Amino acid sequence: MINNTYQIKVENCIICGSKERKIRHHFPANRYNHSVFITHSWDGGMDVELTIVACKSCGFLYQSPIFKDEWLSLLYPTSIISGKLSVADMDFGRADYFINLLKPYVSEIDNPFSVDLGTRYGALPMRMRENGFEATGIDFNPACVDASRSFGFEHIYNYSTQDLPKLLKLYNRDSINIITMIDVIEHLTKPEQDFTLISSLQRKGDIFMATTMFTDSLGYMLFGKEWYYIHAQHTLYFSKSNIKDFFAKYGYEIKETLYIPLYKSSTIVVQEALKYLKHKTEINSHSSKGEKKWFAKNRPHCFDLMTVIAVKK
Ligand SMILES: [Zn+2]
Repeated sequence: MINNTYQIKVENCIICGSKERKIRHHFPANRYNHSVFITHSWDGGMDVELTIVACKSCGFLYQSPIFKDEWLSLLYPTSIISGKLSVADMDFGRADYFINLLKPYVSEIDNPFSVDLGTRYGALPMRMRENGFEATGIDFNPACVDASRSFGFEHIYNYSTQDLPKLLKLYNRDSINIITMIDVIEHLTKPEQDFTLISSLQRKGDIFMATTMFTDSLGYMLFGKEWYYIHAQHTLYFSKSNIKDFFAKYGYEIKETLYIPLYKSSTIVVQEALKYLKHKTEINSHSSKGEKKWFAKNRPHCFDLMTVIAVKK
């Protein structure tokens, strides 16, 4: 049921438009005891339920109801962001991986302009600048932007997707050659509005790269509702095939879908299955002795992330 203070129903499936859905996973309020667990990304630390539905027409999984925009700060508290960053906070290794994926697609573009949406501390655009891109990042969490600026990165802004036209003006550009969204697309609360704008700011041949978890993965197949990636911050749960349909709606063709092959996931299945069992035991524990635990510490997953590279048609 909807908690009318915090939540709002999602009107329709973003892939096929259908309003028909059935409940796939439902978690009652206080599924994690707030005196035992830290739960801000699960339920904003509030007395709210979490429901994941499946579209009856196309099968797409999404959260409904979702948190209202005015309460998102409960899911994303600024207090957990470190004000002073060190190199260890910046995932430059992962940034280099993404840059190498992008390079073959942009070799023809001189001084390509890029925006990393939901950039956190800006590690990707920082590294892209060293590789000849005019790279920028935006994040809606002001604490991330302040921390990154103190670290010395200037090209990061406390903007939302709807502020992108402002960013283009600032850099004297009229289109965005490359958009990256690393672990971000699954968090969107207004994906249709965001992608309509994004698509209007990219031209034929421009690139969109996104990394997200996928539901046709070993981890989701094995662990279902206890899968690590299910929580209230995650509104959209794509599969390898329906993410293609989503991008196609906005004029993109996915050229590559990269993920770690299944057999590698099989090497961690035993350790993850043990976590699953531990988690099942600890959610029934109501003892508040000692420090509070992160609710997802023992929620299991395998290598369940994919990276898609799409080209604007
Ligand atoms: Zn659908």
